[in-house]
Amino acid sequence: MHYYIFSISLIIAGVAELVDARDSKSRGGDTLSVRVRLPVPKNNDKGSVMETTDCIFCKIIARQLPVEVVAENDEVVVIKDIAPKAPVHYLIIPKKHIADVNSLKQADIPIVGEMLLMAKKLAKGLSGSQAFRLIVNNGPDAGQSVFHLHFHFLSGKKMLDF
Ligand code: 5GP
Ligand code: ZN
Repeated sequence: MHYYIFSISLIIAGVAELVDARDSKSRGGDTLSVRVRLPVPKNNDKGSVMETTDCIFCKIIARQLPVEVVAENDEVVVIKDIAPKAPVHYLIIPKKHIADVNSLKQADIPIVGEMLLMAKKLAKGLSGSQAFRLIVNNGPDAGQSVFHLHFHFLSGKKMLDF
């Protein structure tokens, strides 16, 4: 029986923190009792609990993935889109995980303000025309594919179609 306890403990320790493993036989029973504590969601640097550990933008913000950062402040990070739709195609991303526009709360207004001011700052750094287009997709039917709020910042060509 002790061999089995050890084996099961090893398996569990591989996926979660092992808290307690007891053979209830020692207390007179026949069943194995194992209690595990699952990993606690990590806070990002803005103090908000990430809603998903699978969020690619949260991983980029945490530098868990290689990324070239175009600009950054306390609230916002800007990266180049991996599949640009214009000569200049940046993504303006809040450091706080907010899934989409629908998820915004009153308290998030300063963050959205910072995102807009970041667009203004990016425009000033453009060579040539400082015209730009901001796009935010909300929901899969609108083309949202990454469910962490972001503005697409597009520039470098005439965009007169809408
Ligand atoms: P959405 O479709 O949600 O409005 O925009 C998501 C954008 O993120 C897409 O334009 C896509 O090309 C971009 N994207 C997805 N994964 C990555 C990535 O790993 N790195 C970068 N730089 N952009 C990404
Ligand atoms: Zn995220």
